[in-house]
Amino acid sequence: MVFIKKKNGISFRLATETDVEKMAIFEKDVWGETGADEEKISSRIKTFPGGNIIALYQGDVVGYISFEYVDNVAKMSNFSWSEITDNGKISQSHSPQGKYIYGVTISVHRSMNGKNLSTLLMLHAWGHLILNNKTGVFLGSRIPDFKNYKKWHPNIDVNDYIKLRRNGKLRGYELRMYGEEGLLPVKVLSDYFPDEASLNYGVLLYLENPFYRWPFRRILTWLFMKAPLFRKFLDWLFVSIVPYFTRNKNTTKTRKGMIKSISESYSVIKNKYSFWEKKTIQSWLLMLPGSGCEHHKKTGGCTMCGFHQATDKYTHIRLFFKAMFLLAQRVVRNVRPQEIFVFNGGSFFNDKEIPVNFQKYLYRHVASNNYLQRLVVESRCEYITADKISLATKILGNKKLMVGIGLESQDDHIRNKIVCKSLTKARFEEKVNLLKEYGADVLAYVFLKPIGLTDEEAFEEAIKTIKYALSVGVKEIALSCAFVQEGTKMSQAYHEGRFTPPSLWTVLKVIAEIRANNWPVHIGGFSDEPKPIAIPCNCPDCSPQIYEAIEQLREKGILGSIPTCNCLTTNKSLI
Ligand code: SF4
Ligand SMILES: [Zn+2]
Repeated sequence: MVFIKKKNGISFRLATETDVEKMAIFEKDVWGETGADEEKISSRIKTFPGGNIIALYQGDVVGYISFEYVDNVAKMSNFSWSEITDNGKISQSHSPQGKYIYGVTISVHRSMNGKNLSTLLMLHAWGHLILNNKTGVFLGSRIPDFKNYKKWHPNIDVNDYIKLRRNGKLRGYELRMYGEEGLLPVKVLSDYFPDEASLNYGVLLYLENPFYRWPFRRILTWLFMKAPLFRKFLDWLFVSIVPYFTRNKNTTKTRKGMIKSISESYSVIKNKYSFWEKKTIQSWLLMLPGSGCEHHKKTGGCTMCGFHQATDKYTHIRLFFKAMFLLAQRVVRNVRPQEIFVFNGGSFFNDKEIPVNFQKYLYRHVASNNYLQRLVVESRCEYITADKISLATKILGNKKLMVGIGLESQDDHIRNKIVCKSLTKARFEEKVNLLKEYGADVLAYVFLKPIGLTDEEAFEEAIKTIKYALSVGVKEIALSCAFVQEGTKMSQAYHEGRFTPPSLWTVLKVIAEIRANNWPVHIGGFSDEPKPIAIPCNCPDCSPQIYEAIEQLREKGILGSIPTCNCLTTNKSLI
């Protein structure tokens, strides 16, 4: 059965024999020659009709998930995709009494990029898992960034690679994506699937059924499918907490790991390229959930900003800033970061958001730790006052203060009417001068692609804004490439088909300009809290490698290799 019939204009239903021809064309479009042909699809539907779900948009097949029942495949020493799926036909591999689900394929058309379709398809498998009381779900993932990573780190072993983390999340693009759905690596499978970029490796992933053997499975399935909040609670409970106590037999973790995981949700060490030291430094990112942005409370906030949802989520932490800070410090026990970068989803200098005692506590912490050279905080201009800055710089002593200000655009109409920033250029310049007077530096946020601009216009505007910011004394710039967070005006425009994030080709075009001019511009990450529903992307063929290349730029100041791809021809203006 299907659990969600329609969402975002996409309908879902079980595949039937009459869909086979269309599905084979779709598979070929997505996977090329390795896509399932009519014989395989037909055999899957005949063998296990309930395990084949398609997504349709305006009559076309745009997504397909197929699964089968198996026994505990984690006990097998190694197997290929071909072996575990009977070469994609499942007639010999599907075991009707099997206690586990195995994912045969999940395919999403590139036109659906950023529409969360893979999550929606996977939700059907999760629903099936709960309703049919299966023990868990297995899936074999590619690791398409492994070959590229190995080029730079020739001694890396694949077993170590799959454990690598960046910002607390798995480093591999697909592993990270599945990890966000709760599927965790069990082991490496060699010669799993012919895939050059993965060096033919696959990774067996596993998600346990949180309701195995529970009663009222129909109600639980309904809740799971229909109530996102219930799912979020389960994510937290079963993905972050329970595995550490239960020592899940398929994924091994420890209680110590749980504390680490909680610490990492507030505190992360990130490698970052320093324009001034011309090398990679370690930056300690501290997510301090304050009481939320006043601008958002008073006006509804900036059109792209969903941070209020993150600050609302952590209400219980607000009262315990110092306790949280001590927990967060676990992450830096064995490292010596050069800077602390505080994100609080609002204004650090607003006492209503971050208590003044904690502001001072943090200044003292930076001042008294030799290895810390700089404190970076964010604030709206109205809270940047002479009193605040003189207090901060006095306690910090010879340590540098940098203040991030959301400028977004040099154009008054775009900044105040489209982004709804409520900020004049005169005020921005006044605060830049004030900060400089006290020896502090300014980091300006520049937004790439506000609502209503084409990619081409967004490119032009971002370049003009960077030039303007540098001309008025800004020291560094962070380019925020638009991503869509639910519950924002931007998400409304996105759902109505009026907005998409910039393509990665546009981001690369801005990067080319930045590099040609040697501007001190960081490229902001493509994710945040809450998790975006759409991010800058190209087609699935080139996106993973471009993400990796941009990440390399963020970390090392060197842009990784950019693939050539047919999808660039649809962005001719960018060539
Ligand atoms: S972008 Fe900054 S100023 Fe705008 S609503 Fe979000 S936190 Fe507030
Ligand atoms: Zn492409």
